[in-house]
Amino acid sequence: MDIVVLLGPPGAGKGTLAEIIRDKTGYEHVATGDMLRDAVHRGTETGKKAEGYMKSGELVPDSVMAKLVEDRLDSGSGSGRYLFDGYPRTEHQAELLEKSVAERGGQISRVFLLEASRETLISRLTGRRICRKCGRNYHVVNRPPRREGICDECGGELYQRPDDKKKTIENRLDVYDEQTKGLVSRYESQGKLERVNSDQDADTAADKIVESMNRMGILRDTE
Ligand code: AMP
Repeated sequence: MDIVVLLGPPGAGKGTLAEIIRDKTGYEHVATGDMLRDAVHRGTETGKKAEGYMKSGELVPDSVMAKLVEDRLDSGSGSGRYLFDGYPRTEHQAELLEKSVAERGGQISRVFLLEASRETLISRLTGRRICRKCGRNYHVVNRPPRREGICDECGGELYQRPDDKKKTIENRLDVYDEQTKGLVSRYESQGKLERVNSDQDADTAADKIVESMNRMGILRDTE
């Protein structure tokens, strides 16, 4: 089992880059935010526990997250290669993930830190639109669909996430600074962190990440 983590604040482009990298490498995209939104939508127990936190931009408790992620690791397609987007977000989640991965005989091989200015983050989040059907990410200015409000891939309806409104965005960025940013030094001291400029366009940033994964030799039998 091999895990690559995309770390960075909301709006850094984790979801968009993950989609591109998944298509180029075959790594499975594991986006905890998407999994939670799906659970809320389906009205599951996890969804009921998570909904309030998500609305206000707070983090869902670590115990709920750990269970969600463990279940995901045990139900993959069998590739054993996962691109994590939005997890871990706390020191405790990082510890739990290291333990779960080690128990399954795997490792976290690389952590890419996506860095962008606060201005970029806010403009990306306020302009973000998502397909209700397939989850693909768009942006009203930077990555518009061919037909307004309609997904290029599947024809689904595009919507704005309720937590992509200005007031919740500010809180989510503060939560990142307070609870997630500390992971940078954790992975730096483990020698796993690589910084990626995420102010540049998504394809260029994704190519840098794929090149780095290639140099590390972790793509050998997926290509
Ligand atoms: P995202 O789609 O990654 O921006 O996540 C949306 C929301 O889901 C976050 O604001 C949190 O409320 C929740 N969430 C996603 N991932 C996590 C996580 N690793 N830990 C706690 N809460 C999370």
